[in-house]
Amino acid sequence: MQSNPMPTKARPADHTESQLYMRDVLSVRQFSPDLLKYVFGVADDMRSFVERFGSADLLQGKIMVNLFYEPSTRTSSSFMAAMMRLGGQVIPINSVQYSSVSKGESLADTIRTLESYADIIVLRHPEVGSAAEAAKWAQKPIINAGDGVGEHPTQALLDAYTIQRELGRMDNLTVGMVGDLRFGRTVHSLTRLLLNRGITFRFVSPRLLRMPEEIREEVEQAGDMFTECEDVHEVIGEVDVLYVTRVQKERFTDISDYESVKDAYSITPDLLAHAKQQMVVMHPLPRVGEISYDVDTDPRAAYFRQMQNGLYIRMALLAAVMGRA
Ligand code: ASP
Repeated sequence: MQSNPMPTKARPADHTESQLYMRDVLSVRQFSPDLLKYVFGVADDMRSFVERFGSADLLQGKIMVNLFYEPSTRTSSSFMAAMMRLGGQVIPINSVQYSSVSKGESLADTIRTLESYADIIVLRHPEVGSAAEAAKWAQKPIINAGDGVGEHPTQALLDAYTIQRELGRMDNLTVGMVGDLRFGRTVHSLTRLLLNRGITFRFVSPRLLRMPEEIREEVEQAGDMFTECEDVHEVIGEVDVLYVTRVQKERFTDISDYESVKDAYSITPDLLAHAKQQMVVMHPLPRVGEISYDVDTDPRAAYFRQMQNGLYIRMALLAAVMGRA
């Protein structure tokens, strides 16, 4: 009989805190409300650690590979900072053109090589499903740091954590998502993570960049409400969260399509004058013109706080997956 070339990972009993131990983090679908609450609690602890001591030695002796096949500033550097602040070490591979990938090595072989040196692999890759594919081959945990237009689960966790911190709750809100809902993986993950919480979604995009049908169906199946429109003015007065996204230029095959939608939205102080006093403006960043700089000083502009929350969430995830939370 042929042996299975894809070994399965050793897994412990099923307590909330052990639900992440030695697990891959591939999709937000893995996060039940209890698990989410647990991760947020650990992230709060990580925040106090960092504020009080700068670092903790929870992951001393552990090594993380940061394997990025696509550009990244925040996800890549916050994972590195998270590992280093936990006392661990990092092998950063941000320029795959200088690795054996440029010689034609498969993802499976690259993963099996790197896991033999490290304890955990953070992977960003342009193909949907690549993190799940890598996880099939790896015995060590894989964390999905963005698989093409698929998901970006750790971003959604930090987004949800930001909503919880800024507004004090994640339920019964009106959440407007604006911009490139078709190619933006962060809005795919965040929508999924916010299902079954009584949230009303307002999807605002040019027709070309509508939220994919698959996700719209998931919202319907969950029994949650959504509407779609093209004009942000239609929703600005009622949203508790305005989640703005960049038009994902790198995903377009026809540059004239990109040109036709690239300047679709601009969030300005004039627009925000019509918004609630108690609401937040979020953006996964980078922004390329969709939020004007003079919005930055508005107390409702949460995107830099959101970005910083990524450090604590990623520290929490690394510690939990390594069994040291
Ligand atoms: N940084 C986010 C991502 O990697 C958002 C973006 O690139 O627009 O998906």
